[in-house]
Amino acid sequence: MSRQTARALPAGPSQCPPSQSVPVPTDTTASNSDLASLFECPVCFDYVLPPILQCRRGHLVCNNCRPKLTSCPTCGGPLGSIRNLAMEKVASSVLFPCKYASFGCGISLPPTEKANHEELCEVRPYSCPYPGVSCKWQGPLDAVMPHLMRKHKPLTALQGKDTVFLATDINLSGVVHWVMMQSCFGFHFMVVLEKQENYHGQERFFAILQLLGTPKQAENFGYQLELTGHRRRLTWEATPRSIQEGIATAITKSDCLAFDTSIAQLFAKNGDLGINVTITKR
Ligand SMILES: [Zn+2]
Ligand SMILES: [Zn+2]
Ligand SMILES: [Zn+2]
Ligand SMILES: [Zn+2]
Repeated sequence: MSRQTARALPAGPSQCPPSQSVPVPTDTTASNSDLASLFECPVCFDYVLPPILQCRRGHLVCNNCRPKLTSCPTCGGPLGSIRNLAMEKVASSVLFPCKYASFGCGISLPPTEKANHEELCEVRPYSCPYPGVSCKWQGPLDAVMPHLMRKHKPLTALQGKDTVFLATDINLSGVVHWVMMQSCFGFHFMVVLEKQENYHGQERFFAILQLLGTPKQAENFGYQLELTGHRRRLTWEATPRSIQEGIATAITKSDCLAFDTSIAQLFAKNGDLGINVTITKR
């Protein structure tokens, strides 16, 4: 019973007070930022947002840091799992600055809207999605494609929703990446074929598509990767990843077109492997 009550509490105030507290005079805005600073996590200085848990002495730590800690960073006592409903209630009426404030975003939001905004925040920096190289570049979303074409030459870029991605010399040993850009429906996509070798010397291929865009934008698309040849066909269909998520986790989980060397040989011609790529809009 108490859990249900706790869940309902933050939702109520968050719908009313923000509209009341946004247009108020400057002195109240200052007190809002004072209030927000009370929610700073002592470990990462990000904000402690609901659900808010405290140690037995009342210290808070954010939900990102919490799983990495064995004791309270403030008093050293046990972390505990006491929920602080009063702080949650206060949090729901405070406007928190976007986490990209230092990049120039001036927006503050109630906790329920913060994560959504940050996913789409216009000044949010993106890391370079080019696989296999340690490129340190970061920049806004619309600068990713120009960066790739300028710094990661030679990079093939094709237009259209149906293309053939031809990976040459697939018999090269070690970790190898093949990359192609494909543009359609007003968006840019990156097709990656990665070859890995495990400690038994077995090689495996992973082919995947990612969108230069947000996870929400990626949900509007589907893609198909297909190997054909010698009266055989191997197909993979899925939703593209966003470059916000990256492809490493998907590859680890084989959540992509994954196949071994003997399958690659079935479809390869003279050491080259052609992958039919089809992108669809949902
Ligand atoms: Zn933290
Ligand atoms: Zn403590
Ligand atoms: Zn922002
Ligand atoms: Zn780069």
